[in-house]
Amino acid sequence: MNKTLLAAVPLLAIILLAACNQPAQETSEQEQSEEMTSTVMTATDQGAMTPQAVLDDLMAGNQRYMQNDLTARDLPAQVAATTDGQYPKAIILSCVDSRVPVEMVFDQGVGDVFVARVAGNIEDEDLLGSIEYAVGVAGSKLVMVLGHESCGAVKSAVDQLDVGSENVDHLLAQIEPAIEKTEGERDAANKEYLTGVIKNNVELTIEDIRSRSAIVRQLEEEGKIMLAGGYYNLHDGSVTLLD
Ligand SMILES: [Zn+2]
Repeated sequence: MNKTLLAAVPLLAIILLAACNQPAQETSEQEQSEEMTSTVMTATDQGAMTPQAVLDDLMAGNQRYMQNDLTARDLPAQVAATTDGQYPKAIILSCVDSRVPVEMVFDQGVGDVFVARVAGNIEDEDLLGSIEYAVGVAGSKLVMVLGHESCGAVKSAVDQLDVGSENVDHLLAQIEPAIEKTEGERDAANKEYLTGVIKNNVELTIEDIRSRSAIVRQLEEEGKIMLAGGYYNLHDGSVTLLD
């Protein structure tokens, strides 16, 4: 054996050892994919959940989100499993804010929840129609309106932002009742005041959904659905339920 070959022996050993480790790594990846959730909501699952159970499920998901412990999901499997139908447990009406990733906030997967989004989480005819479809046709048990800390839409409404757009004016006008309901000087720089408007806006949206939708009212009276308001904290990702 010459010197060059001798020098190469330890290197060869390392390469061989690394090659031997390969199958072990593959096995652990397989094990990981087996631990992933591939099941989705079925009609039976949806039928078995009470509105309160749905709310509890979302709040438990929010705890996992805060603890960086989101459920591992086999997304292609969930996509395949939901191709022919969906049985979402809830509809969540949220602001469009990019810092409120709704499905992640509640640790929900494919087919789990309807998400309706509009700046300032207000209701209009189209959103009411979407909510009525969710609870009246698709069997969802919970309507959640989710506001959030430092909402730009609410802030703009308080500031009476004018960008020369009828569309923006129309949107911001719908937040005006929450401003009227909030005690104190109209001042978006006042965090406490702004938070008050944001929470009142959630509560008024819920009241408006209830008063404008006979379908929602009836299902709620029958105890088949529940309406809930939530406030998302940008600092820690927590959702607090509002009364
Ligand atoms: Zn917002």
